[in-house]
Amino acid sequence: MVSARMASIHESTTLKISAMAKKLTAEGLDIIDMGVGEPDFDTPRHIVEAGCSSIRNGETHYAPTAGILDLRKAIAQKLVRENSLKVSPDDVSVTPGAKMAVFAALQALLQEGDECVLIGPSWVSYEPCVAFAGASVAWGRVDEAFQPRDLAASINSKTRVILVNSPSNPTGAVFDKNVLQEIRDLAVDHNLFVVSDEIYEKIIYDHEHISIGSLPGMEERTVTINGFSKAYAMTGWRLGYLTGPKETMKWVNRLLSHSVSQATTFVQRAGVEALTGPQDEVAAMVKEFRVRRDLLVSGLRDLGIPCSTPGGAFYVFPDVSEYGGGDAFTDKLLKDALIAATPGSAFGPGGANNVRLSYATSQARINLALERIGKMIGK
Ligand code: PMP
Ligand code: GLU
Repeated sequence: MVSARMASIHESTTLKISAMAKKLTAEGLDIIDMGVGEPDFDTPRHIVEAGCSSIRNGETHYAPTAGILDLRKAIAQKLVRENSLKVSPDDVSVTPGAKMAVFAALQALLQEGDECVLIGPSWVSYEPCVAFAGASVAWGRVDEAFQPRDLAASINSKTRVILVNSPSNPTGAVFDKNVLQEIRDLAVDHNLFVVSDEIYEKIIYDHEHISIGSLPGMEERTVTINGFSKAYAMTGWRLGYLTGPKETMKWVNRLLSHSVSQATTFVQRAGVEALTGPQDEVAAMVKEFRVRRDLLVSGLRDLGIPCSTPGGAFYVFPDVSEYGGGDAFTDKLLKDALIAATPGSAFGPGGANNVRLSYATSQARINLALERIGKMIGK
C-alpha cells in the first residue's frame, strides 16, 4: 500500500548512481565516478576537531529545533557580511543538510494546485519536493548558456514560487546581477516568492555570487538556502540552513519540529568552526576545481563534444545529442568506458540531450576519463 502522493515520487537518480558506482567498484571494476556531486576532499581538520571535542564535551543531547544559538549567530553574521542580507539569528533555521531546507521551504510555501518555476535543467530533488507539497513544476526555458529566457511565459495565476539555484546543479550556470534583477521584477510584479538555493556560492569562477534576497524588494519574498556539504566538504555530516520572512520561518520550524527535530547537536558545533575558522582550505579546493573544470571542458571540446564553460559548481553538462542523447550516452559510458555519470534527463525535460559529469575527482582520473571517452566515440 502506498499513498498517491508518495507514488508520484521517483528515486533520486544521483543517489542511485552513486550507490551503483560504489557497488561496481567494490566488485573490483575500475569505475571513474563522475556521477554524484560530492567533493572528493576530506573535511578540513580543524572542523573535524571541533565536532570531536563537542562530543567529548558531552554535547550529545537535544538542541533547539532551529539550531544552537552559536551557529545561528555565526550564520546570521555570515549572511549579513557576505550576502548583504538583513538577518538576525532568530530568522535562521539549521537543518540536517540543505536538502531538508529545500524540502521544508517548499512545504511551507506551496500547496495543492500551486506551481513552482524551475529554470531549465534543475537539481533532481526539487521536483519531488514540489510534488510532496501537492504542487507541480513549470519548466522555465533557458538559452545555450543555461541562462533564463522568457521566464514570464512560465508564470500564470497558479505560480507561487520561482526557484533560483546559482551556481547551478547540473549546468554550472551563474546568474549575474541583471538576470537576478529580471527575476526580481517578475517576482514583485506577480507577487511570488523566490527560493534561492546558494549551496554552490563559494565554488565559483570569474563571477561574483549575488544573493537575490539582497536586491531591493526581495527581503520579504525570498527564502535563502545554504549548507556545508560543498564548500567545506561536509556531505556526510548533514548540515544546512535557511532564512526567510518570519512568517515563513514559523511554519518551517513547525515542520522541522515534527519531523527531524533538529540537526545533530555536535555537528552544529563543527558548523560554527567551519564558518568562523580559517577559510584557506575552501580557497584551495576551489582553485583545484577550476583547474579540473578547464581540463575537462577543453578535453571534451577537443573530442568534438559541445560543452559550455560552467561559471560555478563542479559539473559540466555537455550536449551529447550527436551520440543518441543523454540516457543512451550515460548507459554507454558505464558499459564501455566504466564511467559513472548522470543522464541530463534526471534534471528535467530540458536536459535530455545532455549528460552531467562531476569533476569532483582527481586530474589523473579526469585525464583517464577523457581517454576512455575518446576511445568510446572513436576519436
Ligand atoms: N541543493 C543542491 C543544488 C545540491 O546539489 C545539493 C547536493 N546534494 C543540495 C541542495 C543538498 O545538499 P546537502 O543536503 O548535502 O546539504
Ligand atoms: N547534490 C549532489 C548531486 O546532485 C548529491 C546527491 C544528491 O543529494 O542529489 O549529485
